[in-house]
Amino acid sequence: MPRQQAAGARRPARVHPDVEEVLVSRRALARRVAELGRQITADYAGRELLLVGILRGAAVFVADLARAIDLPLRLDFVSAASYGAGTESSGDVRVEQDLREPVAGRHLLLVDTVLDTGLTLHVLDATLGARGPASLRSVVLLRKHRGTPPLHTADYVGFTVPDRFVVGYGLDYAQRYRNLPYVGVLRPSIYQPMGGLTVTKSIG
Ligand code: 5GP
Ligand code: MG
Repeated sequence: MPRQQAAGARRPARVHPDVEEVLVSRRALARRVAELGRQITADYAGRELLLVGILRGAAVFVADLARAIDLPLRLDFVSAASYGAGTESSGDVRVEQDLREPVAGRHLLLVDTVLDTGLTLHVLDATLGARGPASLRSVVLLRKHRGTPPLHTADYVGFTVPDRFVVGYGLDYAQRYRNLPYVGVLRPSIYQPMGGLTVTKSIG
């Protein structure tokens, strides 16, 4: 027989040993996603939304956000890739996997995990904006607080966080940790052995 928990029982909060610090808790995520959903619902009242998650990272966020939005809604995905070191954004971004849905005349809302340099949103905004959407906005779960201003701003921001490498709630390091229910700072010892190497990084 599988072990079961009594209904309503709380599991003790356990933090992954590779995580140095929880930056955004599961509870804070749920609360903020609900708020963003309410705000988007009000802003797009009377319209149909095309919600576009940026793979793979935004899959978790967009799944929660879609359920917090009370509007007629289509869900689609796009994937982009950049090349550079494992935990740093690099200069070259391109679309790897395109949307299935047509964009012309639609109210498109791009959903991403982290706004760092802004290059990803900048490139996707230009690419998708050229297809004649009725409107094109973006929502990011996290905006990194960095010295230089980003190339692109987001219309909706979940949380502003310090410029540290984070994982969880869809965000990975080398494809791991996406399933953590919180956003946490990865211990630098986990990625420092790879620090000098140039590896292909898939955005999101
Ligand atoms: P930008 O193009 O704005 O510089 O970078 C955005 C992308 O870089 C995000 O979609 C995300 O995939 C990745 N990224 C930026 N910061 C982090 C981070 O701290 N952790 C993870 N896992 N990915 C990040
Ligand atoms: Mg990644």
